[in-house]
Amino acid sequence: MRYLDFVRTRAHGKINLGLDVLRKREDGYHEVRMIMQQVGLYDGIEIQRIGAISGFRHIGIETNLKYLPSNENNLAYKAAELLMDEFNIQESIHIKIRKMIPVAAGMAGGSSDAAAVLKGINRMFCLGLTDMQLKERGVMLGADIPYCVSGGTVLAEGIGEILTTLPPMPSCYVVLAKPGISVSTRTVYGRLNAEEIQNHPDIYGIIAAIEKRDIVTMAKAMGNVLETVTIPEYPVIGEIKQIMMNMGALNSMMSGSGPTVFGIFNDIDIAKNAYMVLKGNPSCRQVYITDGGNGDERY
Ligand code: ATP
Repeated sequence: MRYLDFVRTRAHGKINLGLDVLRKREDGYHEVRMIMQQVGLYDGIEIQRIGAISGFRHIGIETNLKYLPSNENNLAYKAAELLMDEFNIQESIHIKIRKMIPVAAGMAGGSSDAAAVLKGINRMFCLGLTDMQLKERGVMLGADIPYCVSGGTVLAEGIGEILTTLPPMPSCYVVLAKPGISVSTRTVYGRLNAEEIQNHPDIYGIIAAIEKRDIVTMAKAMGNVLETVTIPEYPVIGEIKQIMMNMGALNSMMSGSGPTVFGIFNDIDIAKNAYMVLKGNPSCRQVYITDGGNGDERY
């Protein structure tokens, strides 16, 4: 079979419409129940096949952000290495990442890049792995990677790797705003006391609203237990949520471990207005407007 010389693909970011932590397991991982939702915002991924250079294999990484690792610490590198080791691919490749998804922001940017590279290498070298087989490998690199392989609207349980596909989120507009701080997912989970969580979000209520195509009820039911850790430490997150609500969001919440805040809108003009106001707010470093997008970018 003939290998492809070049693969270009998109790595979409996600938000969490619901994020609950059920307990901390003995192995230190947290058992979660989350609703993952792909958004239109994505990183551009290009994989170039360099070919065999006298038995020397090189995985090159290039990104538009100087502070991101361009070596084996990049999740995209790890994903390529994982498959190339397993299938004994001795050729060199070069991966270009055009980073648009905010980094260390609760939007699974690195996981999504890794999932896109797993899929890209699978295609480039005609490995014939199914999505399920890619997910089994992806989870070795990160709990969110199996979800990112297929994207869409999904209930994620276990440590995030047990996935149930849901109907798409009812159509709406999503405004994303990230303050100029970065949050470590590991630190946030480390500070969460799962036994002391008072208000667990109604994950099945969110799912029922999605199934009824009822965006208003879905938005009202949203909840994220990690807000109890991140917001007290970074009150700016609460302030951005309040601005979203004042500007007419159906609801607004922190995504993942933060600090990205998103607002759900059912009216494009109200959403655009909120986007403009947040764009002009000095607390917001990155602001986007997108669809609730199993689809195209709109920012
Ligand atoms: P999650 O929502 O899964 O918790 P996140 O938004 O918190 O993800 P990422 O943007 O994936 O976090 O990045 C976390 C860290 O991983 C960054 O500090 C960065 O140095 C490192 N990293 C490695 N590879 C990548 C990549 N391809 N894109 C972004 N970050 C990467």
